Amino acid sequence: MNWLTNKVLPKIRDWTNSRETPDNLWVKCPACGQMLFHNDLAANQNVCSHCEHHMRVGPQERFQALFDDAKYDVIELPEVQVDPLKFRDSKKYTDRLKDARHKTGDKDAMIVAHGKLAGNPAVVGVQNFNFMGGSLGMAVGEAIVAAAKLAILQKAPLILFTSAGGARMQEGILSLMQMPRTTVAVQRLKEAKLPFIVVLTDPTTGGVTASYAMLGDIQISEPGALICFAGPRVIEETIREKLPEGFQRAEFLLEKGMLDMVVHRHEMRDTLANIVDLLAVKMRKEDNVEILKPKKAAKKEEAPTAEGAAEAEKADDTSDKPTETKD
Ligand SMILES: [Zn+2]
Repeated sequence: MNWLTNKVLPKIRDWTNSRETPDNLWVKCPACGQMLFHNDLAANQNVCSHCEHHMRVGPQERFQALFDDAKYDVIELPEVQVDPLKFRDSKKYTDRLKDARHKTGDKDAMIVAHGKLAGNPAVVGVQNFNFMGGSLGMAVGEAIVAAAKLAILQKAPLILFTSAGGARMQEGILSLMQMPRTTVAVQRLKEAKLPFIVVLTDPTTGGVTASYAMLGDIQISEPGALICFAGPRVIEETIREKLPEGFQRAEFLLEKGMLDMVVHRHEMRDTLANIVDLLAVKMRKEDNVEILKPKKAAKKEEAPTAEGAAEAEKADDTSDKPTETKD
């Protein structure tokens, strides 16, 4: 009987084990508790088909759902110094970073890509909550500055999907410094007259809410997203009062005027494409106005003398050959 237990049984075990049976075929909706088949959930952009709960999604899924034909280029982001404070809590910061990089396959919590959105150029940054709670550290700060620079270079709008627990504590003051840095980056965009659109996703809190996440020209949110500086539990404990239902959720903030719109994930691409298209037309028109202005001014200067006026008229008649009429 020995050959049976020693040789045949292990072979049978190997054979059955080789057929992969992943244990994550079903996902439980955290809102309604329904079991959802992972393929169906992915096809539905990670939105529960029973209760419309929006689950968190990573940068790749966002980019694929957003850009035309799911085509985009992820940009290389500047390197930052790793763990300058040699920080350690229950675990070394460098180990936490290593784990997060292994888990997500990304270098840090913000990924920036550019491509076309309904034919218009767009620069899009997505913050990944799966990477250390999406926390704003030096790398995320650099990513936002780089994204703003690229948007200015391409004369394209910048769209940021935010999702974060706040600033990265392991980087201390250096992470807090990213709040003014990113604010300046947004200001540069505005000086270049380029649109900055923020899409707040669940959850956007702390230092991120206190800086770039609230500076959008247009503030959009996904349904049910928690958006706050301090969380509801902290506030309840501090003021010792029960907070109203849905406090700090997207719909509540829309009602109070903190947001411009709450958009379902399935309509996000069309909504953003529409906004970008409208603003792109406006940007083109403004460009034309600037080009036209100097010509009109030049004509007015010539107008006072009779000869000048006649010449200006000639110039109008032969507008296809403006250089010949000048002298
Ligand atoms: Zn559900």
